[in-house]
Amino acid sequence: CGIVGYIGDKQAQEVLINGLSRLEYRGYDSAGIATLENEMIRVEKKKGRLKNLEDVLDKTPLSGQVGIGHTRWATHGVPSDANAHPHCSVNKEISVVHNGIIENYMTLKDELQAQGHVFISDTDTEVIAHLLNELYTGDLVETIQIALQRMSGSYALAVLCANEPDKIVAVRKDSPLIVGLGDGENFIASDIPAILNYTREVYLLDNGEMAVLTADHIQVMNSTGNTVDKEVFVVDWDP
Ligand code: GLU
Repeated sequence: CGIVGYIGDKQAQEVLINGLSRLEYRGYDSAGIATLENEMIRVEKKKGRLKNLEDVLDKTPLSGQVGIGHTRWATHGVPSDANAHPHCSVNKEISVVHNGIIENYMTLKDELQAQGHVFISDTDTEVIAHLLNELYTGDLVETIQIALQRMSGSYALAVLCANEPDKIVAVRKDSPLIVGLGDGENFIASDIPAILNYTREVYLLDNGEMAVLTADHIQVMNSTGNTVDKEVFVVDWDP
């Protein structure tokens, strides 16, 4: 339902929770975040209100200056802690938040389970994390490009990779996603209000486009992998 991502010099947790709170109006049944620090992905997720997640994070904060967050509106699997996003590969090599539906997830899940991947949720989304881990070439962007050829359905995705701790990769098809441009920090979100506290300059990603974010650079590519020169859209309204 809602996606936020942050990379920069602030603690990601704070920015992610702020962003998710701006998306609460859209409705959701659970919420979660993942951060990345010292090549380790950490995840906290909770069924119910964002407040439930915040209560856990108050006691055990997730540190790190890169992270992704999600508010879920369940389509596959009941609302629960386990089914909440982010979803990860078995040893948290990869973490994913996803809006939309992976239509062929059962086929992919059967295949991945046969290859030894152990699933802990009932979601379509979890297959994405395992698939990326299975196909990982040492290059996250390339791996996602390969994985997308195997996935049918709709998606807005933001992905963290423990092995490539200085980036967030995001991609969309039939589900909205925008990039927020900051100074020494960058953002990803499913909707503009999520990042208006931090920036008014955005790229509106077109269908099939992928964005690679570091703290001080954004590269946008089309579905054939060619770099796209995006126009900066300046948001001049308030939610
Ligand atoms: N299909 C995914 C799920 O059920 C994503 C739902 C959403 O867009 O929030 O977990």
